[in-house]
Amino acid sequence: MVPLLTIERGFIGVGGLLLLLLLELVWPFRRPVESRRRRYAINFFIAGSNALLLSALLGGMIVALYHVYELHRIGLLHWLGIRDWWNVLATVIVLDGATYWWHRAYHGLPLMWRMHRVHHSDRDLDVTTAGRFHLTEMVLSAIFRLWVIAFLGAQVASIVIFEIVFGLLNQLEHANLRIPEPLETWLRWIIVTPDMHRIHHSQASEETNANYATIFSFWDRLFGTYRFGVEQRHLVIGLPEYPRSVTFTRVLAMPFGLPCAVMQHPPTQAALQRDG
Ligand SMILES: [Zn+2]
Repeated sequence: MVPLLTIERGFIGVGGLLLLLLLELVWPFRRPVESRRRRYAINFFIAGSNALLLSALLGGMIVALYHVYELHRIGLLHWLGIRDWWNVLATVIVLDGATYWWHRAYHGLPLMWRMHRVHHSDRDLDVTTAGRFHLTEMVLSAIFRLWVIAFLGAQVASIVIFEIVFGLLNQLEHANLRIPEPLETWLRWIIVTPDMHRIHHSQASEETNANYATIFSFWDRLFGTYRFGVEQRHLVIGLPEYPRSVTFTRVLAMPFGLPCAVMQHPPTQAALQRDG
């Protein structure tokens, strides 16, 4: 069942990508500021090489660990006897909530922000941005998720279903897509929409330090980081320290280079008070 689901997950990911690429052509939200061909080349190469390297280096070990957890009934849901669809529901909600806090850590801790700024350095936002993450961030996040799953006691099938939903929502929220307002408002009560997540990619620190969720929008509403109602047309996407397009090698070197000229990471409230 699991290898089949893994293959299906790959097909669903590629299907989501192709569908959103098509929808972005038909109903685009804004005109790109950079050459689409150049961005696509960088983002596809990053996503493709990450997928190959991760599956070659860690893929087998991760799947084996998931099975060990299940076989030895490790984790809270196993101990409580919560199985099948209740296990799926708990897994999707808890892993999405954990990812919300993990995303906040990437923005709050300078060392983690060095990795995550690769994702935010994209000056346009579309479905290809969904795969633009530095390999170091992908590895660190995979290890974090292993710990959460060990604690939670998610079944292997629940993890695969979470990854499918998470992957599709990650693609959707980055899409350069115009969704009619009544539908967008309705969707935003439940899930993260492109209009909501676009604000997170703004250069303004009070906007980028908001809307961290991936699947459910209620995490931001619950923890006070929900932001909406800014003028979307005037949003400047990207990072102030990278005002022009960057090369592929510069993207790869971002976590290891010198601190950024403008600011290494969005200042925290404590830093603002200390410096101000
Ligand atoms: Zn972010």
